[in-house]
Amino acid sequence: MTYNNSFSAGSAADIYINTPVNRSFTYKIPEQMNLLTGMRVVVNFSGREMTGFVSAIHNNLPEGIELKDIVSRIDDEIIYDERIIRLAEYVSESYLSSVGEALGKALPSGESSRSRPRASRVSHIENSRIDLTDKQKSIYDRIMSSGKKSHLIFGITGSGKTEIYMSAAIDAVSKGLSVIYLVPEITLSSQIHARLYKVFGENLIVYHSQLTQNQRLANWKRFYKGDAMIAVGTRSAVFLQCPKLGLIIVDEEHDSSYKEQSTPRYNARRIAFYRGETENATLILGSATPSIETLYAAERGVIELHKLEERYGDGKLPVIEIVKLQNSNEEITPRLKMYTNRAIKDGKQAVYLLNRRGFAPFVLCGDCGCAVECPDCSIGMNYHRGKGMLCHYCGYSSDVPLNCSACGSESILKLGSGTQKIEEIISKEFPDYRIFRLDQDSARKKDTVYDLLDMMHKREIDILLGTQMISKGFDFHGVTVAGIIMADIGLNMPDFRATEKIFSLLMQLSGRSGRGESEGRVIIQTLNEEHLIFDYLKRQDYLGFYREELKIRKLINYPPFTRIARIVIRGKSEESVSQSAELLTIDMKRLVTEQYSGIMVLGPSPAPLSKIGGNYRYHIILKGKRLNELTAFVKTAIDSFKSKAVYIEIDIDPVDML
Ligand code: ADP
Ligand code: ZN
Ligand code: ZN
Repeated sequence: MTYNNSFSAGSAADIYINTPVNRSFTYKIPEQMNLLTGMRVVVNFSGREMTGFVSAIHNNLPEGIELKDIVSRIDDEIIYDERIIRLAEYVSESYLSSVGEALGKALPSGESSRSRPRASRVSHIENSRIDLTDKQKSIYDRIMSSGKKSHLIFGITGSGKTEIYMSAAIDAVSKGLSVIYLVPEITLSSQIHARLYKVFGENLIVYHSQLTQNQRLANWKRFYKGDAMIAVGTRSAVFLQCPKLGLIIVDEEHDSSYKEQSTPRYNARRIAFYRGETENATLILGSATPSIETLYAAERGVIELHKLEERYGDGKLPVIEIVKLQNSNEEITPRLKMYTNRAIKDGKQAVYLLNRRGFAPFVLCGDCGCAVECPDCSIGMNYHRGKGMLCHYCGYSSDVPLNCSACGSESILKLGSGTQKIEEIISKEFPDYRIFRLDQDSARKKDTVYDLLDMMHKREIDILLGTQMISKGFDFHGVTVAGIIMADIGLNMPDFRATEKIFSLLMQLSGRSGRGESEGRVIIQTLNEEHLIFDYLKRQDYLGFYREELKIRKLINYPPFTRIARIVIRGKSEESVSQSAELLTIDMKRLVTEQYSGIMVLGPSPAPLSKIGGNYRYHIILKGKRLNELTAFVKTAIDSFKSKAVYIEIDIDPVDML
């Protein structure tokens, strides 16, 4: 593909701005400003200074209108070209945002610093070969020779998917093609980064939100120019531009962090698929627990399916035990205690998962059972030692109340166990062991995470306790025991994907255990050991679970058998929110009868999280067999609906129904 940056001079520029208005705006280029397409500028827009993305330069000055001058130029060189405008148009059409909003997500926002020139690439790529096993090699060969662009490696944990990704990356780079390697979490990117750096050296950049804006911009530029040929990063790295894209890898493709949670709510996996198709690049998705949608697509041949069913070397899958908790106050069962002791006496390590995700621990009145809720969000607040009560949705905090606000009772109970409390309990249970905690609170301090991971590798930690963060892709060879403190948390969430999410979480966590020479043991503690998923978990039968879940999805007509759009209506006044939701639903139903017979409208209803940050929330769920029709329907319905009192969020293919 060729592209040319328009170097043509001109006196006006078409500029996209990160605002909901879906078009470009024309500004005048000041005399002395030397501006090119592909640079960012500062412009005045509705009385505010905003970043603009120049998409064209010309002399077509509109008549009778006084154009505003561009305020200043941010870049002194080209950092993008028309290809990203095309990609932003795709995002805008698929997820119903403006092109400017899409560009706001796609492009870095830093400013160039007069940075030290980087050492030019070290090319030790040729001499780094990876010895693939026969199984890995045959998958690699099939991917390389396949007519299909998109591939799914459905490989159990520890089977060596990473080795296949790396071999494919080496191949692409050696042919002069760029590679984007997506990972779900920044913490994981550091581990992959270390492995990739050994092979690619200075040819590798990272791209994620823990870099400063200016670092991001500097790395963006190196990749854009081809000074670095491989990029490892999180979600937004899917937009990275380069001379010629050869390969996109989406590791742990099932992970919900690939979905952006503000407008445009894009899924990096879908963007990656689109780029593969349009830029003639190979796409490799990989997971031990592929999302139901992806596996379904693979089974129908939209994506080519490759299975890796054995662990690398002599590695065996761990043995999974389901252990019943006697009551909700039991934290460490005797089985878990025994295996932990055994492992650590043996010089091994344990990881404990607490899937507290927002719903525990809460504070309850012992007399009337009222929970302490966030006044702005209508959900239980969480208790944090030393900080009091905290709302995990809006950040509101308060002291632990002395009395129940409903009945006045002084019997205030802290129920359920957060990671802090569990840490305390296991420290008492195992006073001699070195116990550390990894969760969002500790991860906020950047170095803590890297330090903890490093300590894990050096076996300076006996038990690592954490939230779902610790389940993602880590390769610690000393871990032989994985404990799930309470598997029930999350299973009953009002979300059609709740079971899928918990199943893959538990299976991923199990996969952290037994990656070294010794056999691993997974203890899943639960109040309800009869739950269907435990049968499949015990057998580590993801495919069996998938088939069962697929039946249910078919029955209730949810993805992958239909596409979904979710409209959230939010605002400060509950009355206007519920009224607007009603009106919008009536409009939509009329539209269905008139024109869109393939669409189903469900709702409106208060969202499961019916209030966040002082905003009431209602939602409408839309189903459609064909995505094009669904998107067109949403666009038509929303465009004709005007309301000043409420804000409308559009989520195409939502991953979260709360
Ligand atoms: P996955 O990504 O599938 O969970 P990894 O790629 O992390 O698995 O592989 C698990 C472990 O096996 C790693 O320690 C990795 O270095 C090792 N391994 C896998 N394949 C090979 C190979 N072909 N040669 C050497 N080591 C390998
Ligand atoms: Zn009470
Ligand atoms: Zn809140």
